[in-house]
Amino acid sequence: MMDNCLFCKIASGNIAVEKVYEDDQVVAFNDIDPQAPVHILIIPRKHIACISDITPDDNELIGHIHQVAVLLAAKFNIAEDGFRLVNNCNDNGGQAVYHLHYHLLGGRKMNWPPG
Ligand code: AMP
Ligand code: ZN
Repeated sequence: MMDNCLFCKIASGNIAVEKVYEDDQVVAFNDIDPQAPVHILIIPRKHIACISDITPDDNELIGHIHQVAVLLAAKFNIAEDGFRLVNNCNDNGGQAVYHLHYHLLGGRKMNWPPG
């Protein structure tokens, strides 16, 4: 846990959010500034600043995050119509919070190319 990290505080429960899922490895909660009817953030409990920092030790964790994304897409009824799973990395990627997170977006048609 990093003392100055917002998502570490959310994962540990020090900051309250609208959680939609949690287990021993990950927490998922509604984004505070939703960009689609469904906009969920999935984060590992472990502090990893950016996707560039993952190591082979994280393979199981990253796979698990994908499994949780699929589970939540089904739970929130966006699996059939389709959804987008997004990770923003560093400045050009649009990353604002430096604790690894995936955006699960759905409930509307997504644009391509992204903005
Ligand atoms: P990114 O730009 O990929 O780093 O995304 C960070 C996301 O975190 C943004 O979509 C924010 O709206 C979201 N966010 C920031 N603070 C909170 C919070 N306290 N609770 C829920 N979502 C948050
Ligand atoms: Zn953190």
